Amino acid sequence: MIYDLSHKDWVEVAKNIKMLLLKANFPVCITGAGISVASGLPVNEMNFQGKTVHQLFLKDFWRREPERYFDFYYQIFFEWKKALPNNAHLYLHKKNFKIITQNIDGLHFEAGSKNVIEIHGNLRELRCETCAIILKSDFLKHHGFNCPNCKQILRPGFVFVGEKVKGVSLATHWICQSDLLLIIGTEMDALPIRYFPKIATTKQVPVIWINQNSETIIPYLCK
Ligand SMILES: [Zn+2]
Repeated sequence: MIYDLSHKDWVEVAKNIKMLLLKANFPVCITGAGISVASGLPVNEMNFQGKTVHQLFLKDFWRREPERYFDFYYQIFFEWKKALPNNAHLYLHKKNFKIITQNIDGLHFEAGSKNVIEIHGNLRELRCETCAIILKSDFLKHHGFNCPNCKQILRPGFVFVGEKVKGVSLATHWICQSDLLLIIGTEMDALPIRYFPKIATTKQVPVIWINQNSETIIPYLCK
C-alpha cells in the first residue's frame, strides 16, 4: 500500500497512518535533498555563488581545474557545515529509523542517527585515490588539495556523476527486512534506489511518500 503525503491535504491521510509508525519494528527511510531544505541547504539545481551545486559532482571539473574546483568545494563545505538538522532528521533518529540517504550533508549523523548509509558519500571528508587516506574537509583550509602522503590530488568523499554508489547491498538488505518504508524529498529516479519501493510493495510493506514539508509532517506522524 502506498500513502502519498505530497499534497496540501496531507493531514487527512496522515492521521489514518500514525499507527503504522507506532507498530513498525524495522522502519527504513530513504531521504533526498528535500529533507534538508528546511535546514537551509540548496537542492542540486539551485544556484550557489554563480554555479549550480550540481557542478560539484562533475568529475571533469575536478580533474581539469582542481584549483577552481576546490575553491568552489570549500565555499559549499563552509556554508553547509553551518546547517543544523531539522525536525524531520531529529524525529527519524528518535524513532530509530534506518536511513538510506542520497544527501552528502551529514545531517542524519548530526541528528544522532547511527544506522545511516550515505549512498553518495559525504562532504565532510576528502580521500586519496592512490593511498586511500581519508581526511576531514577542513584540511583544505591550510594544506591545499594535495595528499600529504603521496602528493596526488585529493578527491571529494562523495561520488561523482556516473560513479558507483556506496552501500547498495546493505541498503537492499534493510529494504528487504523493513516493515515500513518512508520516502522523503527525493524523486527516486536514480538507480538503484528507484527499485526499492517496488521491493517493499511486493512484500506488502507500506510505503509513505513525502515530498515537501517533512519537517512538519514527520513530527506529526511520530507524535
Ligand atoms: Zn595519497
